[in-house]
Amino acid sequence: MNLDSMDIKILETLQKDGRASYREIAKELGITTPTVSKKIETLKELNLIVDFSVNIDAEKLEEITILLNIKCKPSDTTKLLNELSALENIRELYGIDGSRIFAKVTIADNLNKFLAKLGEMKEIMDYEYHTITETIKEKPRAILPSNLRLIVPCYYCKKPIKDEPVKIKIDGKSHYLCCNTCVEHYKEKYRKMKERID
Ligand SMILES: [Zn+2]
Repeated sequence: MNLDSMDIKILETLQKDGRASYREIAKELGITTPTVSKKIETLKELNLIVDFSVNIDAEKLEEITILLNIKCKPSDTTKLLNELSALENIRELYGIDGSRIFAKVTIADNLNKFLAKLGEMKEIMDYEYHTITETIKEKPRAILPSNLRLIVPCYYCKKPIKDEPVKIKIDGKSHYLCCNTCVEHYKEKYRKMKERID
């Protein structure tokens, strides 16, 4: 589905300042507060806005950050990614190909303690790390061009919706579906699910 230019402007404003209030955004963009609120709710519903996080300068806390490059067997990658993502120190984690994992790691106390933890993970075949000495640029990952297409999976068949989704409202929330057949199936599934709860 295509986002309109106002959606994109709202996202840009939030990327600059995640704490901007709906009122402030409305004033800046020349639209009403309820419109901003409605649009942000939709963007959250679509899981496009992941969180409104605060970016704290780690260096000011005398924390060090390392870039970690891990090698493992392709068959161990999923297990290892799960283990690593559970570690507090790992701040960003990427599977690169079948056998490589990159991570950005922040060390608040003791680097050796962290490396010892890595040593205990049998799936790690080899690793190297580099300490970051200068952070020159650190931006939110999403770039916002003026034409933004958002890929939403169909709530029923889970396939990515290529055209405009069919949007239905149930209990005040929007649900996105790929076609009218999925709409019927979904309504039925939703009705049965509610019956079980009630
Ligand atoms: Zn579908």
